[in-house]
Amino acid sequence: MTDSVLDTMPLAAAAPAPETVKPSLVGLTRAQLSEALASIGVPERERRMRVGQLWHWIYFHGVSSFDAMLNVSKVLRATLSEHYALTRPQVMAQQVSVDGTRKWLMRMPPVDARDKGAEIECVYIPESDRGTLCVSSQVGCTLTCTFCHTGTQKLVRNLTAQEIVQQLVVARDMLGDFPGQTPPTDGLIPSGEGVRAVSNIVFMGMGEPLYNFDQVTDAIGVLTDGEGLSLSKRRITVSTSGVVPQIGPLGDAAGTMLAISLHAVNDELRNKLVPLNKKYPIRDLMAACRAYPGASNARRITFEYVMLKGVNDSPAEARELVRLLKGVPAKINLIPFNPWPGTQYECSDWETIEKFSDIVFNAGYASPVRTPRGRDILAACGQLKSETEKLRARARLALDDESASA
Ligand code: SAH
Ligand code: SF4
Repeated sequence: MTDSVLDTMPLAAAAPAPETVKPSLVGLTRAQLSEALASIGVPERERRMRVGQLWHWIYFHGVSSFDAMLNVSKVLRATLSEHYALTRPQVMAQQVSVDGTRKWLMRMPPVDARDKGAEIECVYIPESDRGTLCVSSQVGCTLTCTFCHTGTQKLVRNLTAQEIVQQLVVARDMLGDFPGQTPPTDGLIPSGEGVRAVSNIVFMGMGEPLYNFDQVTDAIGVLTDGEGLSLSKRRITVSTSGVVPQIGPLGDAAGTMLAISLHAVNDELRNKLVPLNKKYPIRDLMAACRAYPGASNARRITFEYVMLKGVNDSPAEARELVRLLKGVPAKINLIPFNPWPGTQYECSDWETIEKFSDIVFNAGYASPVRTPRGRDILAACGQLKSETEKLRARARLALDDESASA
């Protein structure tokens, strides 16, 4: 397989001015939809039923026009469209990798007058039996893990639950994954009777999800609602760098799968790689994992371990990792480090990764090495949005070309 980009496609020019934008109902929770209905005068006794109707059209059918809501009265449809919209974030550019991985650059509408509209990237990874969407929970990240490019970005804000949910809605639009839509033919998208293009979600894009707890758990509520987007909780994984006090509450509130960005087996090294470790050391982190609600051999916690050459990749560390995870229902995910411009780290050699993986495997752990996907479009963890500026420049160029030749 060649390592070239299959397709880079600019999709949208500039967003409309914020004051002309009607608020979108897409991505809202049931409670928020109910408030939206109240604000346009829908009487309280009707609201539950109306929310149910909107929910079905927005999340089950994925409609983008109020006119499509056939069981909603014409009068209400008109009032709704006077005040609200069913818009999604703008997809500014799409890149499709030769391996079918897709990366979308999305622009969120401004949340207030000072906000210029956040831009985030979202990655879709198709496999034969599943399609995984990697979503972001924040723009940037306040934590400063030394191997992660997101940690070097200055601009940080929490995404709203709406913005988190919208990432899936956009992905489904782009993949033709709502009923009656047709999937694009240029990718390796899983399809067939009852097969969803997006079956799994990982919170492994930008940001620390447990630092945006309420919005993330609200979003998970919408994503897993059986009358709408209907994702299974067991197919949603929240990855954390180790915000210990929020791990138990996540299990209680969301009941999703958990992934821990471990990356080191002793506090001295983890303090350097994941500075949050100074606040919540490995011992406390492991205790929180042991107590994670719902963890079992059938629902294992994933431990992510990024392979950094000469830093954390020795056989002794592999053995220590096995010792550390004793008694925890665990899977180990070895991630080849994805270098970014200016980083001090390199990815471990392949033989070193194999040796590390063998030790872990021989101790009884499944230890898949996460195959780098979408390398040609820089879709890897820790690189989301880092290439945004380049991508935007490219998108702008292509648009200029188009208008020049029009
Ligand atoms: N903030 C959360 C979730 C987002 S990061 C967390 O840290 O878990 C998702 C995963 O990508 C984490 O395991 C993170 O450590 C890893 N990651 C970050 N930068 C990376 C890089 N350059 N190469 C490989 N993995 C990286
Ligand atoms: Fe933030 Fe996760 Fe990156 Fe650390 S690895 S800086 S927690 S996004």
